[in-house]
Amino acid sequence: MLVSLSAATAYRGAVPSDLDLPDLPPPSSRRIAARVTKDALRHIRKQHPWVYDDSITSLSHAGGAGDLVVVFDDERNFAGIGLFDPDSPIRIKMLHAGKPATIDATWWSGQVGDALAKRAWLIERADTTGYRVLNGENDGFPGLVVDRYAETLVVKIYTAAWFPHLGGVLDALVASIGPTQIVVRLGRNVAAGECYGLSDGLVILGEAQEPIEFSENGLRLLAHPMSGQKTGFFLDQRDNRNRVREIANGARVLDVFSCTGGFSVAAAAGGAREVTSIDSSGVAIEIAAQNMALNQHIPAVAKCSFDGVVGDAFEVMDRLRRERKRYGLVIVDPPSFAQRQVNISAGLRAYGRLTQLAVDLVEPGGRLVQASCSSRITADDFHDQVQRSAQAAGVRLTEVTRTDHGIDHPVTFPEGAYLKAVFARVEPLAREHGREHGREHDRAHGSTSRHRN
Ligand code: SAH
Repeated sequence: MLVSLSAATAYRGAVPSDLDLPDLPPPSSRRIAARVTKDALRHIRKQHPWVYDDSITSLSHAGGAGDLVVVFDDERNFAGIGLFDPDSPIRIKMLHAGKPATIDATWWSGQVGDALAKRAWLIERADTTGYRVLNGENDGFPGLVVDRYAETLVVKIYTAAWFPHLGGVLDALVASIGPTQIVVRLGRNVAAGECYGLSDGLVILGEAQEPIEFSENGLRLLAHPMSGQKTGFFLDQRDNRNRVREIANGARVLDVFSCTGGFSVAAAAGGAREVTSIDSSGVAIEIAAQNMALNQHIPAVAKCSFDGVVGDAFEVMDRLRRERKRYGLVIVDPPSFAQRQVNISAGLRAYGRLTQLAVDLVEPGGRLVQASCSSRITADDFHDQVQRSAQAAGVRLTEVTRTDHGIDHPVTFPEGAYLKAVFARVEPLAREHGREHGREHDRAHGSTSRHRN
């Protein structure tokens, strides 16, 4: 079927008047027609959202960021439609493949509705008011993430291609959710370019205020949508935090890379005797203490003693080990170690190093929870590395479970799967020999690693 390259609907008129949105560029009225390689076409038909610049064989004309691109097959049939992104090697971010579709206000509200329907089970729960509303390409919004903390929405924009369409998306979000505050966060590359009056942390609806208190499985937590890391809290670990809560009873817990203490609070609520949180950010540790304080009404949290340590996780773990500290549960949830393809092997080594440091801090029969949020490192490679490193440190890791994403972080293409975690029991291989072997290994490889992206 032939598709006309007709004018796209302009959204400005549809934006609610109380939204304090600067003048954004309207979507261009001219759609770009593109042809791509056979391989790329195959990927598009499998709903893969990325088309790289070197897969494009022809373009009708050069467009601006966010112009709509219609990809045709060799018979001039519609294959899909996406956003043009001239500044990115992922030159077309696909919005839709299959039957022809019109990208307009109705489209965005349909997409937001679909995303909310996928999360209905979570949204209906009164004890959880923080969740991811739009998970980028996995919800049909490539390069756009929206998180919700109670009545606040945080819109994180990773590509300038969204600027012409922001009005339409916000309109749909406001109509279906009715937030009282909307905060815009900009990815580093976006913030460095033309932002049409938007800036990182700008509040475009409601009062500029933070922290925002929200609930996660009945626990009270603070998010910092304007100034915090990413969108102000790490919602992706919700299910893992709940699992930690289930296994923390009576344990001394070490929460490494704790950030604002999501795991720490969950462990305390689960009956941990004491929790020590380590993070390099003093602000994050301060907020972790506030999060613990917010939950003192829970008897288990009130009974748990809390200690926050600001410092480099590798160094602090090494020091704790030399001080012969031992914990019933060690949680290791570092930032991404392989943000670029070239960092994969260094990233794996860093995960291995963390496993070795961590298992030496676990009491015999205690637990290790280790996670990776590097999308470039596959789950298999990560789990193999953790096992190998544990063995090199002289312990047996008996895996209890491997986990990935919660329902508000759906995954629809291979690169979309970034989170993996292992819950394991730690046992000495041969008690004395094992510990000694671990130390020998560490000496041979240097006692601290400063690897960090
Ligand atoms: N576990 C957290 C999320 C961790 S995000 C949660 O559930 O919310 C990763 C954290 O690692 C960030 O808070 C960052 O400040 C911290 N970080 C980064 N490099 C670090 C280092 N070298 N040592 C300690 N913390 C570090």
